[in-house]
Amino acid sequence: MYQLSFKNISSTFVTNCFIRAFEPYKALHHHEIVVQKRSITSSTMRAQPIIDRFFWNKSKRRYKIEISSHAKLEAHIRIDVLPEEVLIGWFAHELGHIMDYLDRGVWSMIRFGIGYQNFNTFRIGAERKADIYAIEHGFARHILETKKYILEHSSLPDVYKSRIERYYMSPKEVLLLVDQNNSDEDLDMDKLFG
Ligand SMILES: [Zn+2]
Repeated sequence: MYQLSFKNISSTFVTNCFIRAFEPYKALHHHEIVVQKRSITSSTMRAQPIIDRFFWNKSKRRYKIEISSHAKLEAHIRIDVLPEEVLIGWFAHELGHIMDYLDRGVWSMIRFGIGYQNFNTFRIGAERKADIYAIEHGFARHILETKKYILEHSSLPDVYKSRIERYYMSPKEVLLLVDQNNSDEDLDMDKLFG
């Protein structure tokens, strides 16, 4: 059985969406993952390794996905009332980050942390990788819905939206990528971007 734990999350809608995003990520199934709501201000959601004695051994490393419960953000985005596809896409993206961490040794993990915090191009590359992992695991449609929702429907302050536009693959780029790989044949382009 999966080694998932949910902290400060009471909504079964949220836990079910997480499990649906998690299922195709077979490479993550034997890792312990904690999904936690916390008052973070730097981002709405983030995925990181847990720094404990297992951190040094990548096959046993534990990971956490933190969801912001900060009031300022929760006024604009509350994950328990998001459309299902949007939330699954969002979790699939965060799990994509963990895929990116999986084969990294300790020094590579540290370099990643420094690069992500300090270099825009590094960060753009990391966000792109997370999306690509999600697309490869069958979540192309969900990733598109997540992006559309955040950019078009949410009332997030412009500072967040411009950050998203700066660092993340645009919906058009995602479509191009899907088109190239033809990885999801059921994808109805007109329906998504008509
Ligand atoms: Zn990300």
